[in-house]
Amino acid sequence: MRVLYLSTVKDPFEKLIYIRRKLEMNEKRLKTITASLGEGVFVINQHRHLTFINREGERLLGYQAHELFGKEIHSLIHGSKSGDNLHVSECPICKGVESKEAIRIDEDIFIHKSGRTFPVSYVVTPLIENNTIVGSVVVFQDISKQQEYLNRIKHQAYHHILTDLPNRLYFLEKLDEKIIKSDFNNEFALILLDIDDFKNINDSYGHKIGDIVLIEIARMLSSFYHHTFIAHMSSDEFAILMDGNKEEIREQAENIINHLHTSIPIEHNEVFISISIGICLFPYDGVNSEKLIQMADISLSEAKRLGKNRYIFYNDDLEYRRVRKNWIEQHLNNALFNNEITVHYQPIVNAKTKAIIGLEALARWYHPKEGAISPQEFIDVAESNGLIIPIGTYIVQMACQDLAELNKRGFENLFVSINLSLKQLKHPDFMPAVDQILQTYGLNAKQIQFEITETVTLQEDSDLIKTIGELKNKQFRIAIDDFGKGFSSIGYLKHISVDTLKIDKSYVFHVLSDEKIAKLTNAIIIMGQLLHLDIVVEGVETKEHLAFINRFSNILAQGYYFSRPLPLEEFIESSINRN
Ligand code: C2E
Ligand code: CA
Ligand code: CA
Repeated sequence: MRVLYLSTVKDPFEKLIYIRRKLEMNEKRLKTITASLGEGVFVINQHRHLTFINREGERLLGYQAHELFGKEIHSLIHGSKSGDNLHVSECPICKGVESKEAIRIDEDIFIHKSGRTFPVSYVVTPLIENNTIVGSVVVFQDISKQQEYLNRIKHQAYHHILTDLPNRLYFLEKLDEKIIKSDFNNEFALILLDIDDFKNINDSYGHKIGDIVLIEIARMLSSFYHHTFIAHMSSDEFAILMDGNKEEIREQAENIINHLHTSIPIEHNEVFISISIGICLFPYDGVNSEKLIQMADISLSEAKRLGKNRYIFYNDDLEYRRVRKNWIEQHLNNALFNNEITVHYQPIVNAKTKAIIGLEALARWYHPKEGAISPQEFIDVAESNGLIIPIGTYIVQMACQDLAELNKRGFENLFVSINLSLKQLKHPDFMPAVDQILQTYGLNAKQIQFEITETVTLQEDSDLIKTIGELKNKQFRIAIDDFGKGFSSIGYLKHISVDTLKIDKSYVFHVLSDEKIAKLTNAIIIMGQLLHLDIVVEGVETKEHLAFINRFSNILAQGYYFSRPLPLEEFIESSINRN
């Protein structure tokens, strides 16, 4: 009996107690382990009813364990992006009790007891006993912080750091998207805006105020156009994608130009601004983003070239010039090798006596098929593709060779004035090449003048200032070309020593018709003479022009009235005839 009792009742009973204790211990251990986890954990049985949840799980879901025990968890906690509850058939947790594979979900939505939803990632691992799935364990994490962080990073990658407007990257994606969506049916415009002389604003008022100007312009644009895509492309360039036909866009462009031609009060300053706009239209001017941006950019450059504070639509004339620019780019290299580039000379004379005292060397390109191409066209291209270095050196060499020839033929007191681009001047090969050329032709540096176009960089570019100083030390003459043409500051005269001011021809052209320009011209001449600089008045075309400048003494002049630029031999001939 006792044996029977032991084997049938006591032993199994003790075993059961032992197993239960062990289970309890295991459960306690599991609780301790899962409690210390930073992730939520819950376990469901094969009927998808909750059998376990750890403390972090309770905290994240807002429930206490007893509220969830035995409950069908999916309908309680599983949300979806649309806001509706997710259907059981789409629920990875529900599927977890059917599949022997672990399932990892990177992004999903759970619902807190309060009804608030939050983003989660989780892993569902099946619980398998005797080869049968008896439930699954779900380990989940609230990923709102990571998502916020990612969103922030994404926002930063797609927005301009200063103005918080969409940046170039965002703009390009948006433009591509718009092109695809429009299906060639909808017209829209790409409007590029650029602040006029922004560099001068930065230079005159400092970068802090420059930044405020950009922020203010971004604010104004955004307030005009709430529902229009506006991007801050780069430093002072903005872009707008605007629906509408040409007339509608024209009206808007006029509005923008008028509204942004204004002054912004910043820290006791009134900063005057204006902007230039280049516009192209989809699908007429281009059907892909690259082409559209290029066309809007060409139009913007044209708006700048025509005097700023205006808008320009892409047009046939610009197309012609674009094609021509491409042609120049393709043929300029050969021009140098084929000796198509030559130098002509225009005399610089004493305005009173008309005696020739110098010559300006001006580059000429004559293409056998295309004919003459103006230096204004090809020097620009040469500057942008780097060919200005070999072309510039070639001009210096030709001018020196011709000067040596003039010396030989009895014109001994002339100087030659050579135009330099800043790129050339900054190139490390420039100075050694000039030294070498001078030596080859046995010339005196005093007979050579370099003309440098007035720009703001003259003031701040220390390398440039140093090179000009070196040229001066070697006794070369330095002239400031096109003085007064652009928005210029005479501040650079503090840093570089200059011999000559060449007053831009736009002044003399208007001295007789515009009193203000006449007064300005007088003021520039007086200023130059006070600084003991030689003054060359460019563009003297008539005897009335000459009479105007001859109210002053010691003025030099240059212009068609005296002579057009001529090839060396023609120059020599005409000078001999003149004497
Ligand atoms: P720039 O240096 O201002 O040269 C004077 C320009 O005015 C020349 O034009 C000349 O032909 C023109 N000109 C002279 N007198 C008169 C006049 O009375 N009336 C009018 N309407 N124009 C007059 P060009 O030769 O077409 O040169 C244009 C520009 O190209 C030059 O302006 C200069 O900036 C640039 N350039 C020419 N040769 C060179 C060069 O060898 N190197 C560099 N870097 N630039 C050059
Ligand atoms: Ca010049
Ligand atoms: Ca000039």
